[in-house]
Amino acid sequence: MRTGSMRVAEISLPAIRHNVQHIRELTGGQVIAVIKANGYGHGASFAATAAIEGGATLLGVADLEEALALRDAGITAPIICWLHGAGVDFDAAVEHDIEIGVSHLSQLDSLAQAAHRAGKTANLQFKLDTGLSRNGASPDEWRDLFARGAALETAGQVRVRGIFSHLANAGEAADRQQQQRFDEAIELLLECGIEPEMVHLAASAATFASPHLRYNTVRVGMAIYGLSPMAGKTSADLGLVPAMTLRSEIVALRHISAGTGVSYGYNHVAQSDTTLGLIPFGYADGMPRALNGSGATVTIAGRHCPIVGRIGMDQCIVDLGKLGKKVTVGDPVVLFGDPTSGVPPVELWAEVMGTINYEIVAGIGSRVVRVASERPVATTQKLEVAHPDAMHEFGVRLGRRLVAGDLVVLTGPLGAGKTTLTRGIGEGLEVRGPVTSPTFVLARTHPALGDGPPLIHVDAYRLADAHELEDLDLDFEGSVVVAEWGAGLLDEQGSWVEIVIERPTGAGAGLDADAVTLDMSDGPIEPRRIVVTGYGPRWAGGVL
Ligand SMILES: *Cc1c(COP(=O)(O)O)cnc(C)c1O
Repeated sequence: MRTGSMRVAEISLPAIRHNVQHIRELTGGQVIAVIKANGYGHGASFAATAAIEGGATLLGVADLEEALALRDAGITAPIICWLHGAGVDFDAAVEHDIEIGVSHLSQLDSLAQAAHRAGKTANLQFKLDTGLSRNGASPDEWRDLFARGAALETAGQVRVRGIFSHLANAGEAADRQQQQRFDEAIELLLECGIEPEMVHLAASAATFASPHLRYNTVRVGMAIYGLSPMAGKTSADLGLVPAMTLRSEIVALRHISAGTGVSYGYNHVAQSDTTLGLIPFGYADGMPRALNGSGATVTIAGRHCPIVGRIGMDQCIVDLGKLGKKVTVGDPVVLFGDPTSGVPPVELWAEVMGTINYEIVAGIGSRVVRVASERPVATTQKLEVAHPDAMHEFGVRLGRRLVAGDLVVLTGPLGAGKTTLTRGIGEGLEVRGPVTSPTFVLARTHPALGDGPPLIHVDAYRLADAHELEDLDLDFEGSVVVAEWGAGLLDEQGSWVEIVIERPTGAGAGLDADAVTLDMSDGPIEPRRIVVTGYGPRWAGGVL
C-alpha cells in the first residue's frame, strides 16, 4: 500500500487474472476484457495488464481517447473501442493500432481513408444493433455495410476481424430474438465473403447465464473484476473473486456522551456514551451520501461498525461502540471488499442506493489511490460451531495440519472464542500449555512436547507495527505462529491462513472492559460462524 494515502482502492491483480482464466475455462473461447471507464474504477492499466496475463486476447474500451491513454501508459496489447464522437480522429487510431468497432458506413469510410493515408491496414469489427436500440448498425444498413467492408478488405485497406452486438438483458424471449437477428447478420456477412475471427454477443451476465449465447468469444467487464452481474448470485457463487478492496484508516477518535449530535444537521444523536471514529472518505470519493443512517457498516479489526451522521464530501463517521477502547488513530478500515474475507461487499452500498454494483465501483473518486496488490487469491471455507467444544475440536484438527513456518491470523470480537481455538491448535500441535489469552504479553512461545514445531501465540493488536515483532527475535521460520488481531497488521506474504470468528449479532453487547480475559468457555453458549481463508500456494486446495 502506498504510504501516507488515506484512501486506497487496493486492486488484486491475482483476482483479475483468476477471473479471466475462470471465464476462459468456462466458455472455452476467447475473452475480450472490457476495461472502459478506468477499468470500472479499478484503474485501466492494472486491469489491462492483469487481464492479458489471465489470457484475454483483446481489451475493450468505449472511446478512442481511452484506448490512446492505454497506449500512452505502455499497454501494447490489442485494443478495440466502439463509441465514436462526430470528430473522432481515426488517423490516431490507425497510427496506434487501435481496432475500431464500426457502427455506420460513414465510420467505415473515414477509417478506410485514415488507413489509406497511413499506408496501413486498419482492423475493425462490425458493431450491430440487434434490439438494444442504442449504438450499432441497424439491420437495414447491414447489407451495404458488409458489402463495402468486403470491397475495402479486398483493396487491403481494412481487415474485418469480427462482428458483435450487445444484449438488452430484457429476459429470455428478448435474448432469443436478438440472437436470431445476430445469426442472420453472421449469415449475411459470410455471404458477402467476410469470415470473422471473433463473433461475440454475450457480456458478463449472458456469459454466466446463457451458455448458448457465448459464440466463440465473450466480451466481459464486470465479471473480470470479480463482481456478480446477476441479481441473487454472489461472486463466490459464480467462482469469481472481487478485485477491489476499498481501504481507509481512522484519523481521529472522539468520546461522546449520550445525547450528543453527530455531523451536519444532527440527524444522528448518540443513544449512549460511545466512541466515534473519523474516516477520511466522503461522497467525493464515491461513498454515497444516502448511506447515512442505512445501517451500512465498515470493518475495523474484524468488526462491523455502522456509519453514523451525514456523510460529508471528504469524511464520514463510524460508531465504534465497545471497540472504541481497542482502536487507535491510524488503524486500518475496510469499506468494502471480498465478503468471503468477512468485510462488507460492494453490493451492500448498491442495495442501499437502489442501484447496481457497477455504478458504485465506477464511481470511486479520483482522490482514491489505486494500488496494485499481488496478495494471492484466497480459498475460503465457512463453518458453524455450536459449542465451545466444537471450536476446540476445530482447533485440534487445524493444529494437526500446521507445520513450521505456517501463520494463522485470528480475528473476532472479544469473547468470540479465539483463545479456545488457539488452545485447540496447541493441542493439535502437541505443545506445552497452558494456552491463555495473550492480552497482557506481545508474544508467548509454547515449546513442542514431541518432534513438531513450537507455537508462538501473538497479540498483534498490541503491536505498533511489524518491526516490534521482529525486535522480539522469535524463530518464526521454525514455529507455527497464531496471531490474534493480526489481519492487515502483519507483513503477510507467501501463504497464510486467516480465520474470522463471528458472533451472532448483538451478542456480547454487555461486555465491559473487564471482560478482556473472558474467552468463549466462560461465556454463555452461542453458535459461532467461522470463515477460514487460505492465502497462497500452500493453501490453494483449502485449509480444512
Ligand atoms: C460495457 C460493455 C460490455 C461489458 O459489460 P459487462 O456487463 O460489464 O460485462 C460489453 N459490451 C459493450 C458494448 C459494453 O458497452
